[in-house]
Amino acid sequence: MGMESKRYDCLVIGAGIAGITAGIYLKRSNLSALVIDKGAPGGKLNNIHRIDNYPGIASIPGPELAMKLLEQATTLGVAFDYGDVMDVRKNEDGLFVTTTDVGTFLSTTVIVASGLSAKKLSIPGEEEFSGRGVSYCATCDGNFFKGLPMAVYGYQDHAVEDAIYLSALASDLYVIAPKPFEATEAHLAELKALNNVHIIEEAKLSAIKGEQKVSSISVSGKEGESEIAVNGVFLLTGEQSSSAYLASMRPESSKGFLKVDRDNQETSIPGLYAAGDVVDKKLRQLVNAGGEGAVAATSAISYIHAHR
Ligand SMILES: Cc1cc2nc3c(=O)[nH]c(=O)nc-3n(C[C@H](O)[C@H](O)[C@H](O)COP(=O)(O)OP(=O)(O)OC[C@H]3O[C@@H](n4cnc5c(N)ncnc54)[C@H](O)[C@@H]3O)c2cc1C
Repeated sequence: MGMESKRYDCLVIGAGIAGITAGIYLKRSNLSALVIDKGAPGGKLNNIHRIDNYPGIASIPGPELAMKLLEQATTLGVAFDYGDVMDVRKNEDGLFVTTTDVGTFLSTTVIVASGLSAKKLSIPGEEEFSGRGVSYCATCDGNFFKGLPMAVYGYQDHAVEDAIYLSALASDLYVIAPKPFEATEAHLAELKALNNVHIIEEAKLSAIKGEQKVSSISVSGKEGESEIAVNGVFLLTGEQSSSAYLASMRPESSKGFLKVDRDNQETSIPGLYAAGDVVDKKLRQLVNAGGEGAVAATSAISYIHAHR
């Protein structure tokens, strides 16, 4: 006997700012929608120490904005569920069938708002010490290594911002940049002025070592291989699109980032929309992620009415 599938007008995959905004627009149009996420509502907001560029809010910690969003959405009656989406496909009736670890969902439309996930380096020690000194989120885990030496591996703006944040917690902070920095001048200048920060440019992290927990890292740079004692190492070299579960439908994409028609956020598959960081685009920020969630929902609403 198979489990019965639940049916919705729209299934939103991901409860970050893009997915929650889509959920709000769908709810206000009186359609049945479900926002599903395998992690904490708010998505990447939970990784941001402080947001200073969101219109109308001078400055706010990311987790606080996540709470406000969730409160607003649940007050409106937006439905949320936990679940890891593993596959999405279209059946012969044109309905989307979404398979998750908590069951199967049928829907007229799907909004993909699953963002990015950390790129693994696949170096010795990374897997072994994951959660025991190896982290991909400074805001989440920085406090565990308070007063101890730490390292950041990365060169982009988010890594530099996170390094500034971690420097206040670390005894010493080693910033290892595999490529020339791609960060705003102001952030770089702030990082370079910090007393406990040691910047090692054009160097690769080659191994993470320890017994039960991380105790050192191996770095290979211009002057050869060196060993640095650290208790926490933050791997912030980049992220990839979280859209592997779309493999059986193969919407048009570039390196996993979904191509959309910018007027309505529709992918190459009718009824399948995408919003936020998962989209193939230049600027990945909160303000356009939310905006795209609203556009995707509005397009989905028209599609649902046309297919009734
Ligand atoms: C350190 C850092 C600092 C930043 N600072 C700023 C800033 O100051 N200002 C700014 O505007 N932007 C900032 N950003 C960028 C901003 O966080 C993102 O652009 C935005 O949060 C993206 O939202 P999203 O809804 O597209 O994706 P996300 O917030 O990533 O949400 C995606 C959700 O999908 C879920 N998901 C993924 N795969 C699945 C699956 N298979 N099944 C179920 N659920 C799934 C995830 O669990 C996640 O909750 C920062 C980002 C980082 C990493």
